[in-house]
Amino acid sequence: MNRRFDAIIIGAGQAGPPLAGRLTAAGLSVALIERKLFGGTCVNTGCMPTKTLVASAYAAHIVRRAEDYGVTIAGDIGIDMVRVKARADTVSHNARHNVEKWLKGMERCTVFEGHARFEGPGEVRVGGDLLSAERIFVNVGGRAVVPDMPGVGDIDYLTNVSMLALDRVPRHLVVIGGSYIGLEFAQMYRRFGAEVTVVEKGPRLIGREDAAISAAVKDILAAEGVAFRLDAECIGFAPHGDGIEVRVDCSSGDRTVVGSDVLLAVGRRPNTDDLGLDRAGVETDARGSIKVDDRLRTNVPGIWAMGDCNGRGAFTHTAYNDFEIVAANLLDDDPRSVDDRIPAYALYIDPPLGRVGMSEAEARRAGKRIRIGTRPMTRVGRAVEKGETQGFMQVVVDADSDLVLGAAILGTGGDEAIHGILDIMYAAAPYTVLQRSVGIHPTVSELIPTMLGDLKG
Ligand SMILES: Cc1cc2nc3c(=O)[nH]c(=O)nc-3n(C[C@H](O)[C@H](O)[C@H](O)COP(=O)(O)OP(=O)(O)OC[C@H]3O[C@@H](n4cnc5c(N)ncnc54)[C@H](O)[C@@H]3O)c2cc1C
Repeated sequence: MNRRFDAIIIGAGQAGPPLAGRLTAAGLSVALIERKLFGGTCVNTGCMPTKTLVASAYAAHIVRRAEDYGVTIAGDIGIDMVRVKARADTVSHNARHNVEKWLKGMERCTVFEGHARFEGPGEVRVGGDLLSAERIFVNVGGRAVVPDMPGVGDIDYLTNVSMLALDRVPRHLVVIGGSYIGLEFAQMYRRFGAEVTVVEKGPRLIGREDAAISAAVKDILAAEGVAFRLDAECIGFAPHGDGIEVRVDCSSGDRTVVGSDVLLAVGRRPNTDDLGLDRAGVETDARGSIKVDDRLRTNVPGIWAMGDCNGRGAFTHTAYNDFEIVAANLLDDDPRSVDDRIPAYALYIDPPLGRVGMSEAEARRAGKRIRIGTRPMTRVGRAVEKGETQGFMQVVVDADSDLVLGAAILGTGGDEAIHGILDIMYAAAPYTVLQRSVGIHPTVSELIPTMLGDLKG
C-alpha cells in the first residue's frame, strides 16, 4: 500500500521517538518505523541493562568488602545470576514498553514494525507498504563489529546482545577488546565470580585516554583479579575441549588463553549497510557512517541522520542531542549545531571514569600551552570516608585563555562530579570562576576548586 506522510523516521532509538513527539505536536503526520526493539540499543542491549548489572556487581563487591566497613556477614556470598539478569531485564522491559506505548498512542504518529529500506530519495519501503515523505530522518544506530579474525567463524562468540541474554556466570570469560564496553563487562563478570582475561591488541587499555588513566584503570581491574594480555597482535580462535582457545601471540607470556566463553568487544559499526541508501543517493564514509553537516543534514535535501549512524557521536546523550539540534533548526528557527557539542562520556567501571573535552595528550597535540591540575582520590575526604580511594582527577587548562580544555575524574562519583567542569566549559568562563566556587562538604566536587588552585606548568 502507498502511504504519504509529512515525515518518516527510521528507528526508535534515542533520537527518533522524541523527534516524533515534536513533529506531531507541530501538526505534522509522522510514520515511525522500528524493525526490532523500541528504545534501541541503550534501552535494550546497551546502557540500561549494563548499568543495572554494574549495580548488581557493585553490590557483590561491597558485600565481599563488608569487613572493611566493620560489617559482619554470616555464611557465604552467592550470585544468583538468574535474578541478576531478571533485574536488568525488568529495567529494560519497562523502558522499552514505555517508549512503545508512547509512540503507539501518539496523535498523528503511525508506527510500522519492520525493516525499512529506501526506494528513492523520498520513498521508504517497509514490508508491503511504500511510504513517502518530504522529510526523512534516519536513526538506525549500530551494532557490534564481528572482526575478521582467524577462526572467528568456528566458535560460538558472544557480543553485547548475547552477553545480556546470559543467565549464568562463565567459568572463564575472555574479553576481546580493552576498551569501554569490554572493560565494563570484564569487571562486572569478575565480580560475579568469573575468571576474566582481557585481550587487547594495543599496548594499553582505552588507548584514546591519557596513559596515566589507562594505567590507573588497569591497576583497578587487576587488583580485582582481571588478567590482561596486551600487545596481542595476532588474535585468533579455535574450539578447545568444552571451551575456546584464543591465540594472543603477545610479546610476552603464553601464546594462547583458553576460556569457556569469548566476548567480542572491538567496536561498533553503523546499521547502514542494508538501508538502501544508494537508492536515495545518501553518501556514507569508509566506515559506513552517513555523512552529515553540522545540522545533521545528509547530502540529499530532505534527509537527515541522527545518532550513532552519523558517526558524530557514540552515546545516548549525543543521539538525543542530535534530535535537539534537528528539532531546533526545523521547528524553532534556532540554528543549533553539532559543532557546539563538547565531548563528554563515562566509563562505567567502578570507580567510574568521567571525561569531558580534551585529554592532556590531545591538548598537547593541538599545540596548546597548558596548565594541569591533579589530585589523587586518596586526598578527597568523601572518597576516604566511603573507603573508595582508587583513582585521581585531572584538569587541563589553556594557559593563554584560562579556559578549561578538558578533565578526567577517575574515582568514586566521577561520572557525576565531572559535570561541574562540563558546565563551566559550556559557560565558556575562565577556570577562576569555578576555582572560587564553594562546594558542599563532603563531596568529590568540592575538591575541584582546590585542584584548580594548584595548576602546574
Ligand atoms: C553494551 C553497551 C553499553 C553502552 N553504554 C552506554 C552508556 O552507558 N552511556 C551512553 O551514553 N551510551 C552507551 N552505549 C551507547 C548507546 O547505547 C548508543 O550510543 C545509543 O543507543 C545510540 O542511539 P541511536 O538512537 O543512535 O541508535 P539505537 O539506540 O541503536 O537505535 C536504533 C534503532 O533503529 C532500529 N533500526 C535499525 N535499522 C533499521 C531499519 N532498517 N529499519 C527499521 N528500524 C531499524 C534498531 O532496531 C534500533 O531500535 C552503550 C552501548 C552498548 C552496546
